[in-house]
Amino acid sequence: MLTVLNPATEEPIAQLEQAGVEETDAAVARARAAFPAWKAVAPTDRARLLRGLATLVEEHAEELARIESRNVGKPIAGARAEIGMVAQVFHFYAGAVDKHYGETIPVAGGVDLTFREPLGVVGLIVPWNFPLNISSWKLGPALACGNTVVLKPAELTPMSALRLSELVLEAGIPEGVVNVLVGKGSVVGNRLVEHPDVAKIGFTGSTEVGRTVMEGAAATIKRVTLELGGKSANVVFADADLEQAAAAAPYAVFDNAGQDCCARSRILVERSAYNRFVELLIEATRGVKVGDPEDDATEMGPLISAAHRETVSSFVEGEPLFRGAAPDGAGFWFPCTLVEATNDDRIARDEVFGPVAAVIPFADEADAIRLANDTPYGLSGSIWTRDGARALRVARAVEAGVLSVNSNSSVRVSTPFGGMKQSGFGRELGMQALEGYSEVKNVFLSTEG
Ligand code: NAD
Repeated sequence: MLTVLNPATEEPIAQLEQAGVEETDAAVARARAAFPAWKAVAPTDRARLLRGLATLVEEHAEELARIESRNVGKPIAGARAEIGMVAQVFHFYAGAVDKHYGETIPVAGGVDLTFREPLGVVGLIVPWNFPLNISSWKLGPALACGNTVVLKPAELTPMSALRLSELVLEAGIPEGVVNVLVGKGSVVGNRLVEHPDVAKIGFTGSTEVGRTVMEGAAATIKRVTLELGGKSANVVFADADLEQAAAAAPYAVFDNAGQDCCARSRILVERSAYNRFVELLIEATRGVKVGDPEDDATEMGPLISAAHRETVSSFVEGEPLFRGAAPDGAGFWFPCTLVEATNDDRIARDEVFGPVAAVIPFADEADAIRLANDTPYGLSGSIWTRDGARALRVARAVEAGVLSVNSNSSVRVSTPFGGMKQSGFGRELGMQALEGYSEVKNVFLSTEG
């Protein structure tokens, strides 16, 4: 049995049966059996069903946000925004079903056509930090392309995916098209990776487990999309609007208690503006409202688990530049923490996945680019400057898949999201995600004789 906790109170919220290998095989068999009929659903009908699901998510938005908030310890305001995005994702892919075209290619002796074929059964493995959001980023394009799905939420946070699986049926999406399995990564996840009838794994999680998934997928030449860890840089030049950059910086790393793959957890600041910026940053960090996730005004909740809090606290050695307040008592609380560092320190190299930011000075533009790229990761990042040419120069030079200029927001339903280097490969969201859930088939039709 799996006991699911509320991280803000440490109280159990559910006891669930866990699937094993047998149940995983049965779910894959159900998805396989459902595939031919789902693939054959007319595009406009598949679009209508996805739109129905989007509407049901909207109608149950508050309920889903409360489930997510209690299971992850997320502030309710943030959870509402996330569920809003889930609905938008299904709306977007409902609209994309009949716009994912093939081509006709001029060739001698006939006509050459390409088709976008679904892959078959896809295994979706997601982490605990944005459970329903990240599930929808995979489910939307997978279903739009005509695949059937086995979705494995993280052990710590299965509640929202289980509720969604009921809404999927209520929307009229046939039985077997979406199968949600609660279970261990090493059992259910691993079985999906090795199963010969699973055509692709869409994985979001740590780089370490991503490596295992990629190795396991090699045995059956499975397709993989890997959305992995990050250590993103928030680069602040002296010519930036320092007040604006400093006011925004805490939320770019302390949102979701820092448990965000896109967390701008290295704040790189041009040396000539360093002292002023740090003063403003401390002030802004002091203002982050940490506390009860059910309170509408709360901006940061607890960490996901006791074990994770241990890991996060191991990164803070000695006296930090700033340590905020956090509730005492029950709950896996950890305060917002700013640490002065060099890019060689452990805190600047490893993903903390908690509310701890490294603040690092740099000399000039070349130094900023060098430091931003001096990491095995390449997911996200921000550039703050009033010089437009510099903004573009630096954006082109930083080795990361998703960047923002004078803003820390880089995740949108209609734009591609994904990493470079050891942050993974493949793109989610936008029309690009459809490439990861379909395969191009090329057919030559002779017009001779
Ligand atoms: P994790 O890698 O421990 O687990 C992710 C998922 O993989 C879980 O469902 C887990 O059960 C499963 N899993 C574990 N072992 C497995 C195995 N051997 N085979 C198959 N599946 C297995 O990650 P986590 O701790 O849940 O999440 C945090 C990590 O996720 C961080 O590194 C974070 O950066 C990353 N993340 C990346 C993105 C992105 O889009 N790039 C988004 C969110 C989180």
